[in-house]
Amino acid sequence: MKNIRFFTFTLGTSILLFLFLFIPVGHAESGQTYEIGASSLNLRSSPSHSSEIIGQLAEGEQIVAFQEAFGWVQTYFDGEEAWVASQFLVPVDKESQTQATASSEMITVTSTDVRVRTGPGTEYSVIGYTTKDDTYTLLETTNNWHKVALDNGKTGWIAAWLTNPVSSQAAPQTETNNSAVAAEETTNGSLAGYNIAIDPGHGGKDPGSTAFDGSLEKDYTLSIASTIAKKLQNAGATVIQTRTSDYFVSLKDRVNLSESHNTNAFISLHYNAYPIMTVNGFSTHFYSNGNDRILAQDIQAALAKYLPLKSRGVMRGDYHVLRENSDLAVLVELGFLTNPNDLAAIQTADYKNAVADGIVEGLMDYFH
Ligand SMILES: [Zn+2]
Repeated sequence: MKNIRFFTFTLGTSILLFLFLFIPVGHAESGQTYEIGASSLNLRSSPSHSSEIIGQLAEGEQIVAFQEAFGWVQTYFDGEEAWVASQFLVPVDKESQTQATASSEMITVTSTDVRVRTGPGTEYSVIGYTTKDDTYTLLETTNNWHKVALDNGKTGWIAAWLTNPVSSQAAPQTETNNSAVAAEETTNGSLAGYNIAIDPGHGGKDPGSTAFDGSLEKDYTLSIASTIAKKLQNAGATVIQTRTSDYFVSLKDRVNLSESHNTNAFISLHYNAYPIMTVNGFSTHFYSNGNDRILAQDIQAALAKYLPLKSRGVMRGDYHVLRENSDLAVLVELGFLTNPNDLAAIQTADYKNAVADGIVEGLMDYFH
């Protein structure tokens, strides 16, 4: 059963809301694109008018809805989940949207300082830069330009001749392991003396993503956190957990908690969701290109040894808990709750144990 939430609206918004009453409550319109129909609209950390404002959208800007419930639409902003009140959103006609392919094909950038543009050609404006070994989900190809999903939830275009396709089973980072050292150390390795912060994503009023069977990301992250904590403790580590039951912890407090201890590594636990059901697999994300990236590669490589799901590789992600964190920090996305195969695996005890084994081994590879 979904719990019904009640919100207070002003008279004006109530009238506007009335116009949208034909939208079934709780019905997910995942993948629907909306345009902002107010002069500005707040992005909030959870579906409530009293939650923290994390950004603002201007009239005419567009968002993609990942889930929709109780008058709120969830999207992504700066790589983080964000909620906007749906009464100011105007659905964009599906006809005018580009046809996204149902594949989960990935491409990797082969050159440094590659421009990301708003359209398929050098005449389009530059919205950012990407670099060698960055990996993206391919959405569409037009005139030798790839449209890709960016980390901030938006899309951009990259010249196809500056990229290579990633074969789905490839784990390109395995070669970078110092295998000689790792082989010797992992048999009787130890994390004694290391403080590891484990951060179960979401919690309390922030449910995270919703699986297609209605179960919630916040429950999966909490459940697997205790499996990981146990295995880390068995390996000798001291574990700092940013939450231990179903309550809300702000992103800032998660970072503060980690930084207030002598933390050697911070690992944020999440599960993914995507409007296209076939998209699947697990990935590890980092923000800084130095040690964070190396730890992400070690953890992703170790997870790839144990997990039955597809490795999507290592990706740069602009997440608050990574960006604002002075500790060594990575974020793992442990499969897609919107993919039936991923979800079936995620719900098993074997999967939780495999994730914990992978994380322990990845940390040992990194620290030894
Ligand atoms: Zn999450």
